[in-house]
Amino acid sequence: MDAAPSEHDFDVVIAGGAMAGATLALAIERLTNAGLKVAVVEAVIPDNRHPGYDARSIALSYGSCRLLADIGIWSGLSPFATPISSIHVSDRGHFGLTEMHASNEGVEYLGSVVELADAGRVFHQALSKAKNITLYCPAFVTDIERSINQVTLTLNDGQTLTTKLMVAADGAVSSCCDMVGIERFEHDFQQVALIANVTTDMAHQGRAFERFTQTGPVALLPMSEGRSSLVWCVKPHEAPAMLAMSDDQFADALQRAFGWRLGRLLHIGERASYPLILRQATRLISHRFVVVGNAAQTLHPIAGQGFNLGLRDVVTLAEELANAFHEEQDIGAMPMLQAYLTRREPDRDATVAMTSGLVHGFSNTTAPLILGRNVGLAAMSVCSELKAPLLKRAMGLVER
Ligand SMILES: Cc1cc2nc3c(=O)[nH]c(=O)nc-3n(C[C@H](O)[C@H](O)[C@H](O)COP(=O)(O)OP(=O)(O)OC[C@H]3O[C@@H](n4cnc5c(N)ncnc54)[C@H](O)[C@@H]3O)c2cc1C
Repeated sequence: MDAAPSEHDFDVVIAGGAMAGATLALAIERLTNAGLKVAVVEAVIPDNRHPGYDARSIALSYGSCRLLADIGIWSGLSPFATPISSIHVSDRGHFGLTEMHASNEGVEYLGSVVELADAGRVFHQALSKAKNITLYCPAFVTDIERSINQVTLTLNDGQTLTTKLMVAADGAVSSCCDMVGIERFEHDFQQVALIANVTTDMAHQGRAFERFTQTGPVALLPMSEGRSSLVWCVKPHEAPAMLAMSDDQFADALQRAFGWRLGRLLHIGERASYPLILRQATRLISHRFVVVGNAAQTLHPIAGQGFNLGLRDVVTLAEELANAFHEEQDIGAMPMLQAYLTRREPDRDATVAMTSGLVHGFSNTTAPLILGRNVGLAAMSVCSELKAPLLKRAMGLVER
């Protein structure tokens, strides 16, 4: 007779161990002083084919770096991070531009750029060293059953995990949300993001650039070894030809779109592409179930807000879990979930609206809109009151 599949009991089980899932597990360990027994189930071992820790670099806002410091993760990540000293925003072929400088804001940096492959290594090492976190990797959740007091999850190898609370941190197309009947709203931006690492003639000196062009925005973020990390949003029908270009042809096309602020573009690394679709779970909580990170909302990368918003989900959830734990409440019950939802909704709605508004405002080619946004950018460059809300969100100084 076959042995019965093993069963393990946890306080919290997190499906997905990439940026959102890993930071959540570490935040819970830190804020409860390892008081809650946590499992992380991650489908893929971190290497360069990992979907959540691939060749991308992402910008972490100043506020996110501080949140990561509060939960004890920043010291491991900061040796691999490149600080952003200024952000330069312009509209190609028009007069509007605005700049933000760390020195004007009295901070050392406005944000930092981290390579997801580095983050993957740091997080997985931290997870394996944690006192009360069990990592199931490679493994994935295939079934979820809920009863009044617990959730029972089945993994692909037949093991079952029971828990008081299940967290879906399993990315944009969350199969865990599907399993419990949480639907997604989707809006196709009709853009594809091309990414590559770019070596430039002039040193970036910590400068980040965002340039709006007719096809979509081009961003260059400062990264390691003096390179800049490119995110170039183009129309879907343009992407295949641009991916197939030789490096020199691609560098010429990028030079025309981006300009000469970093001198000649000398070398383009491997290119990859991401279709850009806004995805939002229609509910963030359900019985003993909560959604965070890209599973909750997947944004256009125009303003670099995706993980910055996801991290605010994660830290808020860890805080609410720690409160319930310290007050000896049921950590998976509705009062905890409702407290999380109440704190997350305003930030989520504002960030989604701001990001989608930027995409539509800056991809519109009608004359009044072009004039309006250029007047806006020009006004921001001279009036700090106008720039302040944009700057606050770029720096991640957002109420939670
Ligand atoms: C081009 C581009 C540029 C970006 N730039 C920025 C930026 O500058 N700043 C910023 O803040 N954000 C940026 N983002 C967004 C950011 O990358 C994401 O928000 C973040 O990486 C999402 O992390 P996540 O953990 O929520 O999801 P994911 O990275 O999708 O991770 C989900 C994980 O769940 C695992 N999984 C899936 N199903 C299961 C299952 N059933 N069981 C177990 N595990 C499962 C997967 O293997 C995966 O590891 C950018 C995104 C793109 C595409």
